[in-house]
Amino acid sequence: MAVITLVERIDALLPQTQCGQCGHAGCRPYAEALATGQDPINRCPPGGDEGVQALAALLGVPAIPFDPAGPLPKPRALALIREDSCIGCTLCIQACPVDAIVGAAKLMHTVIANECTGCELCLAPCPVDCIDLIPVNDPADNQRPQVMARAAQARKRFEARQARKNRDAAEKAQRLAERAAVPAPAAGAAPASANSDKNDLIRQAMERARQQAPAPAEKPVAEPVDKMAVIRAAMERAAALKAAQQEADKDKQ
Ligand code: SF4
Ligand code: SF4
Ligand code: SF4
Repeated sequence: MAVITLVERIDALLPQTQCGQCGHAGCRPYAEALATGQDPINRCPPGGDEGVQALAALLGVPAIPFDPAGPLPKPRALALIREDSCIGCTLCIQACPVDAIVGAAKLMHTVIANECTGCELCLAPCPVDCIDLIPVNDPADNQRPQVMARAAQARKRFEARQARKNRDAAEKAQRLAERAAVPAPAAGAAPASANSDKNDLIRQAMERARQQAPAPAEKPVAEPVDKMAVIRAAMERAAALKAAQQEADKDKQ
């Protein structure tokens, strides 16, 4: 059987706008601070006086008024983007805790009014200040049943967004780990695939060159040479010259 902790019971009473006006980064951290008695129960303006009373009843402490020096409850206002001024930077999408803004990079953005909690977190990041707050003119809007109905919807969207962000972060971490596990190539060495590609290209070029080259001319068949006959003829020519020279010398004497 699931055990509902005190933190969860406190969190169930909070408006789930994740606005941070309580001084925490969302409703759950404020619930944790309340469970340990770290924070007073009058720090959540979107919950209003009725929210303080609900917390007081759960924790068995007296309901106390909001601190006039801090943020005070006020009528809810919805974000509205002046679409002709929007530059599509996506910063508001990244800031919205309940995915109430749709748009894409460099394209106009718009707020889904039914999902906007009025947390105001998209205002500050907008670089062109093109988000207005339009007050909700409904006296019943800040009453407890409406606040709790919106809280249920906001919780679903916030949790879905958190799950998506966690999934994205895990996938990114896995990709980085896989990349880190691939051994780095030795200094100066081209990657294996680059080497094999290069070898393939060289082989193909050599094959093309071989096919395009003209067939080599046939070598003339060498006549067999009778070396001894050549030597004999040379010796006969030398002997004849020598004899002629001797005859000439006799005639001079
Ligand atoms: S809704 Fe209330 S508890 Fe939640 S973040 Fe805002 S101020 Fe804090
Ligand atoms: S659109 Fe703006 S005001 Fe509305 S919920 Fe998102 S961040 Fe908050
Ligand atoms: S932050 Fe402003 S300019 Fe950027 S996408 Fe949102 S509305 Fe448009």
